[in-house]
Amino acid sequence: MKKVLLKGGMLISKADGFHEDKKDILIEDGKIASIEDHIEPEADTEVIDVTGSYVSAGFIDCHVHVYHKAHLGVPADLIGVDKGVTTVIDAGSAGPGNIRDFIDTDIKNSKTRIYSAMHYATDGLIDPPEADDESKYDLELGKKAYAENKEHIVAIKERASQSCVGDLGIVSIRAGKKLAKELGLPVMVHIGHMPPTIEDVLDTMEEGDVITHAFHGKDNNLFDNGKIKPQTQAARDRGVLFDIGHGKDSFNFETGKLAKSLGFYPDIISTDLHSISWLGPVYSLPVTMDKFLALGYSLEDCVDKVTAAPARIYKLPGLGHIRKGDKADFTVFTVTKGHYVFMDANKNVLEGTESIEVELALKEGEIVMKRELKPLEIKVIDELKSRDEWTPADFEKYGDDLRDVLILMRDRNVFFEEGNLLAFTNHVMTLFRRLETGEKVDALDESILEEINYKAMEVAKELVSRYASKYGEADMTELVLLAIHIQTAQEQFEESLKH
Ligand code: ZN
Ligand code: ZN
Repeated sequence: MKKVLLKGGMLISKADGFHEDKKDILIEDGKIASIEDHIEPEADTEVIDVTGSYVSAGFIDCHVHVYHKAHLGVPADLIGVDKGVTTVIDAGSAGPGNIRDFIDTDIKNSKTRIYSAMHYATDGLIDPPEADDESKYDLELGKKAYAENKEHIVAIKERASQSCVGDLGIVSIRAGKKLAKELGLPVMVHIGHMPPTIEDVLDTMEEGDVITHAFHGKDNNLFDNGKIKPQTQAARDRGVLFDIGHGKDSFNFETGKLAKSLGFYPDIISTDLHSISWLGPVYSLPVTMDKFLALGYSLEDCVDKVTAAPARIYKLPGLGHIRKGDKADFTVFTVTKGHYVFMDANKNVLEGTESIEVELALKEGEIVMKRELKPLEIKVIDELKSRDEWTPADFEKYGDDLRDVLILMRDRNVFFEEGNLLAFTNHVMTLFRRLETGEKVDALDESILEEINYKAMEVAKELVSRYASKYGEADMTELVLLAIHIQTAQEQFEESLKH
């Protein structure tokens, strides 16, 4: 029997009564065996010292797109375990016609635990619009797919936007709800541009059903003239739940601030990570949680909305809690203090002072993520060390920051292939040196600026802002030079995913 001891962490789980309490957790065979102030390890126990870090149940991201064949799908582990997120729910990428394929490929082959909110439309999100014609969904097919794949399916997904349901509007949405009701599952409903109207959509929803994209910045939303719409309040009163589903287009800080001021808090924080949102502004679940810290939510509440709350709402067995007998999924993290600038889906910015940095993640007692350099990154740094251009003193000075930059790039979903990683790493070293000595590079041709996309630029800005007080401010030319490296890596990686 394999035993692991998580030692000295500060437990956060308000649902289980842990408010940053220092405890030891003993894991046996992938489950939580005991939680005590002090547990003495036996000879065969693997001890992981997490003193000084927070320990929560493994983070759960309730709205992602990870079916590789579907529109917008991204690799689950890059946004899952690699970001400290041990469980994700795919939001309708697969439907009754391809759920089996999704299970046999991405669900079975990922380290990240994946559940499906299965689309009621037969082909899921293979080729949207997915439900604008009655021939595109079939109640009997949905029931059969569920019966055969029950353990993977936790909800039925609907997209209540004109771009998804076309002229069918609410008729299509009612068909999704009918399927969910027959199966005894909640619906996860995307809201967006009408038709259907938000009022019509809310009318179809019952206790346990979930609205996602709750704080979007479009018309047809849950609020009216700075107030909660009566239909919204009535829905919440009868037990309808509200999820963030940030996405490329569906989380607005102004709506978020309004909701907070009205005491209308989300039940779940989720990302809607997919191939258009993952290079910014969303990046990851921890960054999305940072935005809620910046909006004034407590750390404890943010953690609850990605652990116990989603586990309760989607009935995820043995997950979301720090409780004896439950699965030993944990996210271990620190909260760093600094000056952080966040962006919503509409390019509004919000300043914050805290950032969640995941150190370690365990899934059923196994380490699935560790905040450390990868072999390729170590190799590249060694290669630079062997060059005449750099001295041991340079690495003494810049080495730790270089390491953090390389990890930050992965945290922002910038993945370099080997040659580009070497060039980028060398560039960051020269950048640190230039900033420190005040050396300027020649201004670039204006035409280059036009070719840089704002997402690469945002990552470049974030990188330099982290070192501005230490090494000095970077000018526009330096930002553009960095952004070129970042954008090249992003484009190459996206290309590699297509093959
Ligand atoms: Zn959506
Ligand atoms: Zn989505």
